[in-house]
Amino acid sequence: MNIDNYRNILDKLSPYGAKLIVVSKYKSFDEIETVKNWGQNIFGENRVQELVAKNELHGINLEWHLIGSLQKNKVKSIIPIVKLIHSVDSLLLLQEINKQAEKHEIVQDCLLQIKIAKEDTKQGILPSELKVFLSDETFGEMKNIQIRGLMGMATNTEDIQQIRSEFKQLRILFEEIKSAYFYDSPLFSEISAGMSDDFPIALDEGSTLVRIGSLIFNP
Ligand SMILES: *Cc1c(COP(=O)(O)O)cnc(C)c1O
Repeated sequence: MNIDNYRNILDKLSPYGAKLIVVSKYKSFDEIETVKNWGQNIFGENRVQELVAKNELHGINLEWHLIGSLQKNKVKSIIPIVKLIHSVDSLLLLQEINKQAEKHEIVQDCLLQIKIAKEDTKQGILPSELKVFLSDETFGEMKNIQIRGLMGMATNTEDIQQIRSEFKQLRILFEEIKSAYFYDSPLFSEISAGMSDDFPIALDEGSTLVRIGSLIFNP
């Protein structure tokens, strides 16, 4: 636990107007309570069950974001408790989110996860597939989802240039998509990019939401 790192991160984010999502996966009740007491109210989890359990334990005043992959059959357990789903990577998943959100009479905020990394383990929609995805005729029919922007993870590498170019690619894609599909929607405004090792680069390249765990919990 490191409050100095936490404060330094907030200081770095502030000129960009970016928000911090503290990634609390695998972290204990006490660890999360500590960070909550520092004033943090947005937390990210990468597993559905953990998110649901922690939401119950820590009360309803926190904002929970799902940042890890989501299976269709788990969607109903996180709606309506999740504020933002960062990891939408298929139309079938989006349709299921829409269906469950409809049952709760809410509009669920989502990001489309884009595969920008040159690593097979990283998930997401391929940049080349995104336009086909957004042109699907079912898109207009989904009234209970709101696409708020894009999410991406850079390759885990020491090569700063590569990381920068991947984040840049995400931002360019964001701009293209915004002008082609979301020009009338001010809500399409978020780029979720940057983790402990690469968030300063992500900020430079337009990130509005950074997801940080280890720099805060195990520096
Ligand atoms: C774990 C995780 C993070 C945080 O990574 P750190 O390197 O611990 O900051 C961010 N995004 C996703 C999707 C993660 O799974």
